[in-house]
Amino acid sequence: MSELTDLSISELQAGFRRGEFTPSDALRALEARISAVDPAIDAYLSRDFQTALAAAEKADINLPLGGVPIGIKDAINVLGESCTCSSKMLAGFKSPYDATVISKLRAAGAIPYGRLNMDEFAMGSSTENSAYKKTRNPWDTTRIPGGSSGGSAASVAAREAFATLGSDTGGSIRQPAALCGVVGLKPSYGRVSRYGLVAFASSLDQIGPIARTTKDCASILNVIAGKDSHDSTSLDLPSEDFTAKLGGDLKGVKLGVPKEYFVDGMNPQVRAQVEAAIKRCQELGAEIIEVSLPHTSYAVGVYYIIATAEASANLARFDGVRYGHRAKNPRDLLDHYMRSRDEGFGSEVKRRIILGTYVLSSGYYDAYYLRAQKVRTLIRQDFTNAFEKVDALICPTSPDAAFKIGERVDDPLRMYLADIFTIATNLAGICGISVPCGFVKEEDSHLPVGLQFLGKALDETRLLGIADAYERASGFTTQRPQTV
Ligand code: GLN
Repeated sequence: MSELTDLSISELQAGFRRGEFTPSDALRALEARISAVDPAIDAYLSRDFQTALAAAEKADINLPLGGVPIGIKDAINVLGESCTCSSKMLAGFKSPYDATVISKLRAAGAIPYGRLNMDEFAMGSSTENSAYKKTRNPWDTTRIPGGSSGGSAASVAAREAFATLGSDTGGSIRQPAALCGVVGLKPSYGRVSRYGLVAFASSLDQIGPIARTTKDCASILNVIAGKDSHDSTSLDLPSEDFTAKLGGDLKGVKLGVPKEYFVDGMNPQVRAQVEAAIKRCQELGAEIIEVSLPHTSYAVGVYYIIATAEASANLARFDGVRYGHRAKNPRDLLDHYMRSRDEGFGSEVKRRIILGTYVLSSGYYDAYYLRAQKVRTLIRQDFTNAFEKVDALICPTSPDAAFKIGERVDDPLRMYLADIFTIATNLAGICGISVPCGFVKEEDSHLPVGLQFLGKALDETRLLGIADAYERASGFTTQRPQTV
């Protein structure tokens, strides 16, 4: 038998049910694995196996995720645990309540046990913006794991987490999942409650799972989805089984290839892998149709206006009075605010707040923010038009494989371009998933490539069915990094 920590959630649960091992065995194996590999990966900010083991002793394995350990991105509140968003601003903060996704996980028997590193306040694409540590990519530890949910993706890839929760505002689940060779799902806007997720850009943020398989992502979505009276943007929909279309094939499925997602400047090896994956889908019976999303080239610009505007408002609460780091011995109130924020926030967060304040300021609001909202509508309309012709879109998740730590830190524009294929999804509120589709060779490393499927809003069941059919036929999810 393979190592316990190699198992997917569904295999783990099958083992529990057959009585081969218990949830406590799984947690102990996980604890040992984290101790062995996390010094090389640095995915975790903290973990608490004492509390987790007590929960495992009592776990009811007949619940939907009974006894399954789930790692949590440090932006999601878990009662009594620290929640720093990888920022000095929230150093020492202890969550006074469980986020709705956490209460739902607990009710379904899952066990949260650890906090995962991220870019500060989820702003970034490499996890280098964490104030605490740089997480490394398990396929090559000189490279970044992607971001902002880099800890959530790297831990799953390194077999030091079975599955994790991340959050995705412009690609932060799918891009690190792609760069680490695991599966990451961004649900449609409104599918999952954001209550208890520290807000970055409230009209774009969604919580979602990162796991080894599409099936595991579907099982987690089954648990975390649903209307929540604490989040007025969560949607009241009939309950749905997101695993309903798993195990099928691609016969007769219409997949659209957006021609704007194959741009000059993308890594040619990544492009070749994605094109091979599209061909594979065709061999599996899918009908491949070229489509156009004509406003794609505006997506990054529109995102960096809307996301920063919302961030500047959301992060105003960290003023050292009610929330956040408090500067010592202020001269007066203004000095208190200025120094608390200056000392608490890192440079990328400051850059975003300044940008967001600028685009909302009088005289510039119409030119930037209002216009960006109008273009957002056009971007959303592009997808609506495309989904009249096809069941889902198929495209790359990221234009590149994992890059070297430090390579892009001084070049924010280049860093922002890491999200060109994921950002429009959030602007449109639709759902998307990244699954592994092959490898590229850079220097001496084999680095994973992600294939992205996009579905129309609230069409997760079909999207998961399509991703699962490709995943089972291609077999890339069984590959694991050899460096750790
Ligand atoms: N990388 C993008 C950003 O820096 C997206 C981040 C996210 O999805 N949270 O804003």
